[in-house]
Amino acid sequence: MEGLGLIAKYIERDEDISRREFFKRGTASAAGFLISYPEVNKHAEKVLVYPYDPIPKEKIAKLSAQANREYKKISKSLGRDYNFGKIKIMISNSFENIEAFFRVSQLRGTIRMPSPYVLNGVYATAHELTHIVADQSPVAAYFTEGLATNIQYNLGESKDSSPNLESNLHLAFRRTGLVNGQLKVPMSELVSMESFHHKNKKHENKMHLHYQAASFVEYLINVWFGGNTRRFMPLYEKGGFQKHFGKNLEQLEKEWLEFVKNFAAKK
Ligand SMILES: [Zn+2]
Repeated sequence: MEGLGLIAKYIERDEDISRREFFKRGTASAAGFLISYPEVNKHAEKVLVYPYDPIPKEKIAKLSAQANREYKKISKSLGRDYNFGKIKIMISNSFENIEAFFRVSQLRGTIRMPSPYVLNGVYATAHELTHIVADQSPVAAYFTEGLATNIQYNLGESKDSSPNLESNLHLAFRRTGLVNGQLKVPMSELVSMESFHHKNKKHENKMHLHYQAASFVEYLINVWFGGNTRRFMPLYEKGGFQKHFGKNLEQLEKEWLEFVKNFAAKK
């Protein structure tokens, strides 16, 4: 019941999803009850798991343990904490995609995960946790998705989830994001989340846009910030290519492309 009380609280914060939409999306259990495994969340420090479908307890426990370990690693790597209470992972058959809702939403600090992901042991949580830990609203989409994909790739424990399909982010991008050596979609067109996720529907699953953004972020962190993600965060949060590099986005994009074209993976 604790979980239902929690959901009721979110409904009251009617910020950007209407109550009807909220139910339509099935976030509040359609069956009207929440399956509770109190022992699963007993030792969870930061991330709690709420399944709405019957899912074997071991799978829930594994997800909970992994998400809590990942949260610690992400928080340390970014030098940022989520300071708005616990993060909730809700699991239901009625969710179509894995999605994160951060602090601007009434579902703040919530990850929705379709049940089949959990049943198949695919816990792509590091990506969504990064969306929640890193600040969102003023950030360019190529940074938001780039950092989340980058962290999933480098720190995520589920190697079989989609951002981990290849051995290296730069190679994944080079294989999928270029036509005749040029970008299929320039960074300047990937500023809004709308453009990142919707306008580019024609591109296969948008994964190559995620690889592209993640490769760009990896380049900035490794080449310009000495491999230190914390040093990248002020740029992520406030922008300012000129201030940080004395170059604009277009110039950096060119240098990054050259870097990627010459990139050879270390064995
Ligand atoms: Zn994302």
